[in-house]
Amino acid sequence: MIARDRSAPVHMVRYGIHREAHYFCGEFADSYDWVVFNGAMVADAASGLAAFASSKATGKPFIIDPQTHAFQHGLASVESSKTGGIKRSILKLADYLGEPVKSRLSSWRPVTPEDFSGSLVEAFVARVADFQLNTLRTQAAARGELEYYQFAGIAAPLEPESVVAPYFLMDETTVDDWLPLNVRFVECSKQLHPGRSVTLQLVVDQGLLLSDQINNVIDLVVSSRADQVAVWVDRLDEVQAPAFVLKKYLGLLKAIGKSKPVSVLYGSYLPVILAKVRPGYNIAGVCHGLEYGEHRPVVPVGGGIPISKFYYPRVHARLDYFDAYKLASRHLGSASDYMANVCDCPVCTELIGGATRPDEGFALYGEPKSIRVETRHRGVSYRNIPTPEARDRCVRHYLHVKSREFREPRREPAVVSKELRDAREEAMALLGSSAVGHLKVWADLIEKEGDGF
Ligand SMILES: [Zn+2]
Repeated sequence: MIARDRSAPVHMVRYGIHREAHYFCGEFADSYDWVVFNGAMVADAASGLAAFASSKATGKPFIIDPQTHAFQHGLASVESSKTGGIKRSILKLADYLGEPVKSRLSSWRPVTPEDFSGSLVEAFVARVADFQLNTLRTQAAARGELEYYQFAGIAAPLEPESVVAPYFLMDETTVDDWLPLNVRFVECSKQLHPGRSVTLQLVVDQGLLLSDQINNVIDLVVSSRADQVAVWVDRLDEVQAPAFVLKKYLGLLKAIGKSKPVSVLYGSYLPVILAKVRPGYNIAGVCHGLEYGEHRPVVPVGGGIPISKFYYPRVHARLDYFDAYKLASRHLGSASDYMANVCDCPVCTELIGGATRPDEGFALYGEPKSIRVETRHRGVSYRNIPTPEARDRCVRHYLHVKSREFREPRREPAVVSKELRDAREEAMALLGSSAVGHLKVWADLIEKEGDGF
């Protein structure tokens, strides 16, 4: 169960790909609370992750997302763009999770609700829990590292904070079939592990969120035996979403939050600040990734072309470099002006404070390089992507700013709304009225305390 500290939600960061490992330690070791591991990565590199969890991020609580939904989509979503076959990590995850996903995958077919008949449910639930509870520990034992934990007096090393029950994405057309199963997975997980916290991961698309059927989903989720609910609405970008979609979304969080602590799996500043100023939502945790940040489509499962944008602190959103530059340029007359009005995180301090001219320092966030792209259908083209160094700077600045957002002092809703509206006024003058509309939408929602249901 998530320990509740009413002053801030638990700050979770998703560890999705190996080259991100260094962002979880050293400079950032104290900047977040929990790690969320992708199940496919745990399956693919259990030994390395056990070492990571036990050394670099020592003592950090973690959760393993078993990513069972990976097996319900068309197989194009789990294909490797390099080999054309199924991704190695997904194949390994299927080995751990067993039937019915393993044989469906080997015959290149997605799983359907009908595949979970009779005793298969219990066996599947048991394996999904066992994967989360034992994979890292088994690897640590094989490396002779469990003695270290005994020595340190840690009774249950490398055990996740909560067991995530198997889960599958639901939309308007599939909810009747998947919903009873998703709830059964939770009941069964609780029966098998009555003493443990069990998480119901609720993954819905926007069509279902906006339909009347969502009320039935809420009823069953609330009356389930789940200790907490983790919510992920497919493709919901809290910065871009229309106000009425966000209103329904907050209504969903609040309706569940009346009975159970809620975590937001891909969340922006909005749920972080709501957790603080509107305790009625019962938002216990907010998770974000690094490169992909704060929203994520359900498919493809992992992968995608990395992009980096500058997270503008007062706007609470990633902006294209040139938009960020336009906003920051008013304060690039001197390093002290920039640090007082844009950001004084360690990365900005080093770049802007250390440059001969502040704008040259800021430009390092947008440093591009040209790459050659060749595809079967479109032939050869060139495109600009950020240099690895620019991406690294953007990610590090983002993590510092995020950490501060979680640690901001609690304020009155009216004070937060005014901050957001003021930031919008400033940004609108330079970027146009539609660029930062989310700040108005958020301010309205925070003031009114949504009642979408
Ligand atoms: Zn910064």
